[in-house]
Amino acid sequence: MTLRSFADLGVAGPLQRALRAENYAHPTPIQDQTIPHLLAGKDLLGIAQTGTGKTAAFSLPILQHLSADRPGENRNASGKAERGGRNRRGSAPRALIVAPTRELALQIGESFHSYGRHLPLRHTVILGGVSQHPQVRTLSIGVDILVATPGRLLDLKEQGHVRLGQISHLVLDEADLMLDMGFLRDMRKIIAAVPAKRQIMLFSATMPPDIASLAREVLNDPVRVEVSPRTITVEQVDQRVFFIDTANKRALLAHLLQDADMSRVIVFMRTKRGASRLAEHLAKAGFPTEAIHGNKTQSARQSALGQFQNGRVRILVATDVAARGIDFSAVSHVVNYELSNIPESYVHRVGRTARAGAGGIALSFCDASERAFLRSIEQLTKRPITVVENHPHQSSAASKGQPEPSPPGRSAPKRRGASGPSRPDKLRDASNGTAPKRQTPSGGPASNGPKPIRQGASWERTTPRTRRKRRARSRASAS
Ligand code: AMP
Repeated sequence: MTLRSFADLGVAGPLQRALRAENYAHPTPIQDQTIPHLLAGKDLLGIAQTGTGKTAAFSLPILQHLSADRPGENRNASGKAERGGRNRRGSAPRALIVAPTRELALQIGESFHSYGRHLPLRHTVILGGVSQHPQVRTLSIGVDILVATPGRLLDLKEQGHVRLGQISHLVLDEADLMLDMGFLRDMRKIIAAVPAKRQIMLFSATMPPDIASLAREVLNDPVRVEVSPRTITVEQVDQRVFFIDTANKRALLAHLLQDADMSRVIVFMRTKRGASRLAEHLAKAGFPTEAIHGNKTQSARQSALGQFQNGRVRILVATDVAARGIDFSAVSHVVNYELSNIPESYVHRVGRTARAGAGGIALSFCDASERAFLRSIEQLTKRPITVVENHPHQSSAASKGQPEPSPPGRSAPKRRGASGPSRPDKLRDASNGTAPKRQTPSGGPASNGPKPIRQGASWERTTPRTRRKRRARSRASAS
């Protein structure tokens, strides 16, 4: 099959030049399938995760449309040119991209900067956790493209600093994560605030019912494109699993890290507290390590990412939410120190080492209580993960899926459910030091062991009460 070029898709010359500078030889599948439709003005429902090239898929058509307006003219919502256009001081934005996390918003801003370098369009990123004054100043000068997290966007709108009446292009990126962070109502408010005639592009890695119904309500005869992350894990990542007892995971990780080939490693944990503790332990053991998770301040997260990206530290310990949406380049290994109970999260994690075509290695540590998680993952990815035999911390209990032997002086762990034993060590790691909770895809903390996971389920659902609490926390941290 011959690959199409960006020119074949209808991408304009100045954008092609920028893409050449980025060394993008060919469009990725999501770009190939969406760009022609988006250039033709269609709405889009894109089921794709970060790492597929979705940012360019929506930014290139937006840049092309906005730059097609003649200087001194501005498109109104119906696409007609009107006087007083894009170079007008204080002009309202014409494209709005809403993203759940500050990191993702910043990354999207950088993409617009790279792809739009030969075009006279202005963009800015507004996000919470930092002073609003510089953002307000930039907005008052006027921008064409606005990238924002939902909370700060609505704050500035309510204060009258952001006007959405000229928006002709709206992107909702990582919509399922916004839902999970409690931003569903904010998404609806934003959609209601933009003109009725607009092009909407909604991207989501999964399609929970709330996002499916939002899509049905707001998209106008959309093109639906699904780029399965399964292809990424199955075809490009070398995936291996180590059966191990919980207590030996640190020792196994330290052993593996002796290998210099593990040059850029992301270690995934399920909880913020677990991530902090492991990062501290690795640093003490002589492995320069940084951690990113939701309890870190924005500047601490940026600094940790900077250290990792510039190679000063080779290990980054991360939680799923904190790492979501971040574009890590040249990651040699992903380590699933704790397997996720949501198989889609495994796919997200592993995709970090197979960015846009490059292969990578994913190592998973599976203790006895995580056997059910492993089964769900293998069901989703439709291929068995290679078992590493004869490693120094081999656990026969984990490989047989039996309960771990209790440490001396401790009574045998009580079975919490039919499909898996409890894990005292893990449970002590639960966030905030509160009562042990285990995330479930179908609601709240589980009282039992791992349950079969429904495919396509939201990767973390919560009870209404937890959602209210989380919403308050998310607003404080994400915007
Ligand atoms: P995204 O899913 O938008 O976060 O993109 C993931 C990564 O793929 C980013 O590092 C992009 O720079 C890169 N990328 C996007 N499109 C292409 C392409 N056509 N060829 C090579 N790399 C790409």
